[in-house]
Amino acid sequence: MLDSQLLKIAEDFGSPVYVYDAEKIEFQYHRLTNAFKNVKKLKLNYAVKALSNISILKLFKSLGSGIDTVSIQEVQLGLAAGFLPEQIIFTPNGVSLSEIEEAAKLGVKINIDNLSILEQFGTKHPNVPVCIRINPHVMAGGNANISVGHIDSKFGISIHQIPHILRIVENTKMHINGIHMHTGSDILDIEVFLYASEILFETAKQFKDLDFIDFGSGFKVPYKAGDIETNIEELGEKLSARFNDFCKEYGKDLTLAFEPGKFLVSESGSFLTHVNAVKQTTSTVFAQVDSGFNHLIRPMLYGSHHDIVNISNPNGRERFYTVVGYICETDTFGNNRRINEITEGDVLCFRNAGAYCFSMASNYNSRFKPAEVLWYNNEAKLIRKRETFEDILKNQVEVDFSPKKKVAVSK
Ligand SMILES: *Cc1c(COP(=O)(O)O)cnc(C)c1O
Repeated sequence: MLDSQLLKIAEDFGSPVYVYDAEKIEFQYHRLTNAFKNVKKLKLNYAVKALSNISILKLFKSLGSGIDTVSIQEVQLGLAAGFLPEQIIFTPNGVSLSEIEEAAKLGVKINIDNLSILEQFGTKHPNVPVCIRINPHVMAGGNANISVGHIDSKFGISIHQIPHILRIVENTKMHINGIHMHTGSDILDIEVFLYASEILFETAKQFKDLDFIDFGSGFKVPYKAGDIETNIEELGEKLSARFNDFCKEYGKDLTLAFEPGKFLVSESGSFLTHVNAVKQTTSTVFAQVDSGFNHLIRPMLYGSHHDIVNISNPNGRERFYTVVGYICETDTFGNNRRINEITEGDVLCFRNAGAYCFSMASNYNSRFKPAEVLWYNNEAKLIRKRETFEDILKNQVEVDFSPKKKVAVSK
């Protein structure tokens, strides 16, 4: 969609506001399915936590996607969006046995990522098929914070504990229907991914009655010019061929599953803010927008880069700005950014704001969470109202501190 259309949305719906371009989501979905067109059975399960608005989930449903969920609430959200239980996989980390049982009761696919829960679940429910999350101990990313495959990671069951898994499976007679890995965000190197996949294939051979192998996600999308992007087409070609060979060897056409979040929704999103004030200091010029890390925390949490564009003045002279928010904390969105000259009241657009942006928003400073708009068929549709003051007070319970009459104490 065009920046002029975004500008109109900021005028019509106010700011701050998140805008998602449905066409871009569809494009990414088809790009990924197309890259794996040579695999007989392919299943994409969109990772709900990236962007969990129910209209976005319905869009994915219309595309034929399943969903990947990490909490019982995300499971319920998926069901509310119309997904069938079998189109939902529950891939939590560190949740209680009872939460997994609750999901199993709803009929969704279960993915277990620790030995203790596996043993307890298998003992109580030997007839419920279970997928196992393996940690292949491969770091497919650059940033240690978001590479979850290393040896001391809290995610998955270590590849070195396969004998223990097998003993539990044998003792409980439980049915393992899938093998899963998710090596964390930001796969830079296809060879590293393929290497981890070999470990998964080796593991899969140990289980005789699988239906699927789930390769997780971590596909990288460019956040700024010159960023590396996962070459999905090349990965598709190489992994498909290897997967098909494996299925022959295994003697069954298994489903190849992925669970991307960022790849599918990141680039579809724009976050629109108004500039409240332009402030000169001795060393820089601040542009202060009507938002903060309460609405978009990735730059402060992970040091993530989001391009920032002045869509009110696209042809203006470029100057250097430090873009900050209105929260009473340091909330720098971008340092020393070259941006077309900013006047108070201009609309700044944060690019790539589809994944892990609204879904991480909070009410810090008692601010409202932003509205969300879906751009679909050349029309702006409101898919989440901006919060109101009632939302701030909704679950708060007021204690009455007015002076009370003395109550006689009985002996
Ligand atoms: C978060 C998550 C994903 C999605 O990761 P992206 O980097 O957004 O693609 C997939 N699988 C699991 C288990 C996750 O926790």
